[in-house]
Amino acid sequence: MAKYASACPQPLVLRIACLKFAVMPGFLDTPVEFLKGVGPQRADALKTELGIQSIGDLLMHYPARHEDRSRIYKIAELGKADAGVQVSGVITHIDLIGAGPGRRFVANIKDETGNLQLVWFQGIPWVAKSVKPGDRYLAFGRLNDYKGRISMAHPELESNAQAIAPKGLVPVYPLTDGMRRKKLENRFMVQMVQTIFNDPRFDVPENLPPALLKEFQLLDRKTALRQLHSPSDLKSLEKAQHRLKFEELFYLQLRHLQLKTNRNRTIKGLVFSEVGDHFNTFYKEFLPFELTDAQKNVLREIRADMRTGRQMNRLLQGDVGSGKTIVALLSMLLAVDNGYQACVMAPTEILAAQHHLSLSEMLEGMNIKPVLLTGSTTKKTRKAILENLKSGEIPFLIGTHALIEQDVEFKNLGLVVIDEQHRFGVAQRARLASKSSTPPHILVMTATPIPRTLAMTVYGDLDVSVIDRLPGGRKPIITAARHHSTRPLIMDFLKKEIAAGRQVYYVFPLIEDSDKLELQSLMSGYDMVTEFLPTPDFKYSIVHGRLKPDEKENEMHKFRNGLTDIMIATTVIEVGVNVPNATVMVIENAERFGLAQLHQLRGRVGRGGNQSYCVLVAGGKLSENGKKRLDTMVRTTDGFEISKVDLELRGPGEMDGTRQSGLLELKLADIRYDENLLVLARNKAEDLLNDDPLLMKPEHFGVRQELAKTPHRTVWSKIA
Ligand code: ADP
Ligand code: MG
Repeated sequence: MAKYASACPQPLVLRIACLKFAVMPGFLDTPVEFLKGVGPQRADALKTELGIQSIGDLLMHYPARHEDRSRIYKIAELGKADAGVQVSGVITHIDLIGAGPGRRFVANIKDETGNLQLVWFQGIPWVAKSVKPGDRYLAFGRLNDYKGRISMAHPELESNAQAIAPKGLVPVYPLTDGMRRKKLENRFMVQMVQTIFNDPRFDVPENLPPALLKEFQLLDRKTALRQLHSPSDLKSLEKAQHRLKFEELFYLQLRHLQLKTNRNRTIKGLVFSEVGDHFNTFYKEFLPFELTDAQKNVLREIRADMRTGRQMNRLLQGDVGSGKTIVALLSMLLAVDNGYQACVMAPTEILAAQHHLSLSEMLEGMNIKPVLLTGSTTKKTRKAILENLKSGEIPFLIGTHALIEQDVEFKNLGLVVIDEQHRFGVAQRARLASKSSTPPHILVMTATPIPRTLAMTVYGDLDVSVIDRLPGGRKPIITAARHHSTRPLIMDFLKKEIAAGRQVYYVFPLIEDSDKLELQSLMSGYDMVTEFLPTPDFKYSIVHGRLKPDEKENEMHKFRNGLTDIMIATTVIEVGVNVPNATVMVIENAERFGLAQLHQLRGRVGRGGNQSYCVLVAGGKLSENGKKRLDTMVRTTDGFEISKVDLELRGPGEMDGTRQSGLLELKLADIRYDENLLVLARNKAEDLLNDDPLLMKPEHFGVRQELAKTPHRTVWSKIA
């Protein structure tokens, strides 16, 4: 009892109320080491390798896939299929062949239709001891085809009579190398799970509301878990997966929504009731263009949030060039009108400097001067900034991570704008929010759109606004993929554009983890380009990761002011750079870039009134995936469309920003294919909380219990 009460530091009466919420220990909470066949050492391995501590955790460690063992193949009918197959026969003879690394143990298995060679390269002494010629075996494994001769390497072998019967769908569990080294293989996992199912105490409480089970005819949880780990047939397996997928999406959404409602209940947000002088003056006199309807709508949503007395937590989605910056600026002016400071946090110094510059330009004529604070701000300037920030003299602060350092104190921070959010961790967001006694409003802006399903999963606790139209008068960027042998033609084209007064970006791939190699490749790229477009007729800016921030800024400055024609760069220019006169973006080795990156890079052009172009240069053999990326870029300029293809190609785990998100909890559902189920789960979770916000109804007891647990996380990073 005391164990549960200790989590609740309230007085006794409250504590009793709290106890009702505590999850009572049951069979599933039993530590795995008490399971027959586990013991302290194996329990330790399960814990350190897979994060499995209790019997319940073991059941929540879902199979990654199932192998169909319902069929035994005749050796004569084996093709080159490399999927797992099983054969049944007698081992006729065994042999040890070769020496050194080529040493292998082979066994010939024979059924009534033919012979198959089984091969082992590792664990030979053990195999040699256990394989008995003359005995009958069931061998399961993948087939190798070596010069037309089929063999099976490292098969799973079972010898005794009952194993000869087909076993249907066998679960294959995700395992780590560490477990394999300890000889804790799939078979061990299968046995443990069977031991659990055979225990008379085995029971699983239901955690979905009965009404939902009924409405969608979902399997109950106990049956679903049994069928997932040990399916009676394919159909039951699918039903089990469906139910458990729904469950995991439902809880993911429920946790997001709970976070959101709890925040609204417990945090008193700052009330920005005034639309004052700063906003109005800017809007009437300094707005450089008419806002699009999409921008106006989003601004209305933001203003509504800020008035209510709740803390705004809003995600602003919009394509590259859709005009998110002005929306941020107007929101910041609202903060100032209500007596608060505002800040913008950007992921790189270049981007922070760019924001600082464009905000300063737009605010020219107003009595507001944004201040820039980055890692390379000098000590002296920094000291002055910190003082003026604390006294409230600085209304707008723009910066990088430097903003979240401990000694940065605001007088009254009212709004935090986080640009290109995917590069910031959740913890950093929280730290910034904590810089004020009352948490400031938060506006998160994505660099490129992310698919709706991903937004719901990763940012499910935020409200979402979308700018769905680009400002009018833009000519769509013309994109072409070209073989590198056509480079002379590309260069001629650049010459023409430059002669017409335009500027050009020329981008080379970033070389991961090696500034030195990157510089080399950039410099040889520069040499290559200058052969066609020689200096001093053509003037160059060069930007790469090795430059100091002020050198970088200097190069950018020259390009921005038209002093140079061509900017040679790595992806450091990917985000935020805004030079409307630049009309061509050439990307070398374009096949090496991800879709989000290509789209961001392309977004650097097409920002002025002139027709703009993007040339994707690639050569050699393209991978299927690389080809699809280039085709997609040529086919569309719609960032939402591109992000969908990106998600399909890369998979949810590889998308930016997913590391710290709930996505890691998804073991069965895949947001690429389960969109409908995800939306359903979200709607049902919303309905549930609307109907019973505190989950006090008896039929929601199971839900309340489930939410009280911390979700079990598999240590996916280790799994091979
Ligand atoms: P992003 O959403 O990629 O951050 P920006 O805010 O940088 O886009 O805007 C891209 C360009 O479009 C900028 O040059 C900006 O001045 C311009 N712009 C933004 N909104 C409008 C508008 N309503 N009408 C015309 N131009 C606009
Ligand atoms: Mg931007």
